[in-house]
Amino acid sequence: MLARIPLVDLKAQYRSIKAEIDAAIQRVVDRTEFILGGEVGTFERNFAAYLGAHEVVGIASGSAALQLALLACGIRHGDEVITPSFTFVATAEAIIHAGARPVFVDIDPATYNLDPNQVEAAITPRTRAILPVHLYGQSAEMAALSDMAERRELWLIEDAAQAHGAEYCGKRCGTLGHLACFSFYPGKNLGAYGDAGAVTGNDPTLMARVRKLRDHGRSGKYVHDDLGFGERLDALQAAVLDVKLRYLESWVERRRAHARMYNAMLADCEVNTPPEADGVRHAYCLYVIRTADRDYVMATLRERGVGASIHYPVPVHQQPVMRKLGYDGARLPVTERVCQEVLSLPLYPELEQSQIEYIVGVIRECVQ
Ligand SMILES: *Cc1c(COP(=O)(O)O)cnc(C)c1O
Repeated sequence: MLARIPLVDLKAQYRSIKAEIDAAIQRVVDRTEFILGGEVGTFERNFAAYLGAHEVVGIASGSAALQLALLACGIRHGDEVITPSFTFVATAEAIIHAGARPVFVDIDPATYNLDPNQVEAAITPRTRAILPVHLYGQSAEMAALSDMAERRELWLIEDAAQAHGAEYCGKRCGTLGHLACFSFYPGKNLGAYGDAGAVTGNDPTLMARVRKLRDHGRSGKYVHDDLGFGERLDALQAAVLDVKLRYLESWVERRRAHARMYNAMLADCEVNTPPEADGVRHAYCLYVIRTADRDYVMATLRERGVGASIHYPVPVHQQPVMRKLGYDGARLPVTERVCQEVLSLPLYPELEQSQIEYIVGVIRECVQ
């Protein structure tokens, strides 16, 4: 019998909490309070408490969260923002939408995160911010980046879109920079039933700016004293997220247990398993191995019903749009090599041991 193991199984998760989710959705519909209001406020407070952050502002998506965070820091035309190219395109897009120039810096080949040693060399008089990504759910090297940001008076903004539940030296990702941006895209560790995101932070002045920017620069019902956006988190998504937030810790623990199982079963196999850096709690938004035979392994897994996938096959600086805009000049040898070798395997809390055994069995046939 052919196995069918998707990369992410959102149906299995819904089945496990159906009654609570359905009740939350019904409550919003009964109240017909769809924009901001109590549901959004409740989720913002609960997510802030979970993170240990001073404040959370719910935003319509992770992409919008990145853009509003940059604008709240005053990033504008002529500025440069240092960021990795090995990420989802939204990170660089937000920088460009804010009017600034993304300066792509290479990654550490072990963690796939921004290499702090190369960040310093990329700082120019125009640099205003560093925007690291906690890729796959593993924190970037925040101590080195914080030091540098402080010394050079730069903003430090986390792209925590993949890092719900991740920690760095005992603190949660989302509390480590001046601001942090989360996505609640359905497949993320904490996923909504549509688009959703948040900005988190500890500075009340910055957070007030984000709050204003998300709702048309409003300071009163009919008073708009800044140019803003319509990028609010909607009440239905907030209600769903607030239910799912109660399960986040147990889900992250199960992701970590599955990752340990994969690591152990693949230990004597010719593939690189993801290392967990010292002092870091990896949240395994994605479980990513590396192998020189990536395309063959992926094709074989897919033939056998396993939804393996690639994050990311093309680095951002080599995307056609970046070429068009003239941001393709960087030479990033690690990023460019790793894109050819990474392979994401199915990982979600409801995944079963027998399924991991099956997936590893197929990989072993391919690479010995
Ligand atoms: C998902 C993701 C985003 C974008 O989030 P959306 O909610 O889809 O807009 C940004 N950065 C990274 C690293 C992501 O994984």
